[in-house]
Amino acid sequence: MSRAAPTDIVMAVRDYVHYLQQLGVTELPLRIADCGLRIAEKGGTSSSALRLQQLAESVHDCQNCRLHQGRTQVVFGTGNPDADLVFVGEAPGHDEDITGEAFVGAAGQLLTRIIQAMDLTREQVYILNVVKCRPPNNRNPLPDEVAACRPILQAQLACLQPRVICALGTFAAQALLQTEERISRLRGRFHNLGDVPVMPTYHPAYLLRNPQGKRAVWEDMQQIQRVLGLR
Ligand code: URA
Repeated sequence: MSRAAPTDIVMAVRDYVHYLQQLGVTELPLRIADCGLRIAEKGGTSSSALRLQQLAESVHDCQNCRLHQGRTQVVFGTGNPDADLVFVGEAPGHDEDITGEAFVGAAGQLLTRIIQAMDLTREQVYILNVVKCRPPNNRNPLPDEVAACRPILQAQLACLQPRVICALGTFAAQALLQTEERISRLRGRFHNLGDVPVMPTYHPAYLLRNPQGKRAVWEDMQQIQRVLGLR
């Protein structure tokens, strides 16, 4: 069976999202590779890297919500397109907005140390955010902003097809798992996003303010390591 070219896939995703918007749909269920389009299997003829690059190009001037007005650039995500482990954060801050890379500020440096403690590197994992543009004054993303970015998140995860997802903090966990449960009640055990295990844990920015949470995060990371065969 012949596979669609990456550009065709991105165009099809964009058309499909526009079609849903015209129908008045503002929120999509987040299930990996289940948006009416089957994106090529991991290891198939079109690489994850190419598909992610095409997707990044297609959203670089996104104006689907008010956040485009204050951003320097869309912060799409970075790392290994074939990563087994994907970290999902909340939204870019000032440093990320300037550099275009997710998690490069103080919280990002702590995330880097957490990744290294897992015997991994930033280059081996993929790091992205639920919301791709910086909210003004680093305020929390609003529900309609999360909803507007959801198709991009969904398409990214469909491209990446990770073995494990780590949700960093309340917003990522609630957006991925579509729950209003607090992070303190969600963390510490795996949840399912389709057939992908999701481990919610405290956000590194929270850990900077509350270092006593580091022990819990390390326990969560050890659970991820076990699933990935790193422990
Ligand atoms: N930087 C990011 O890229 N995401 C966050 O959630 C916090 C800081």
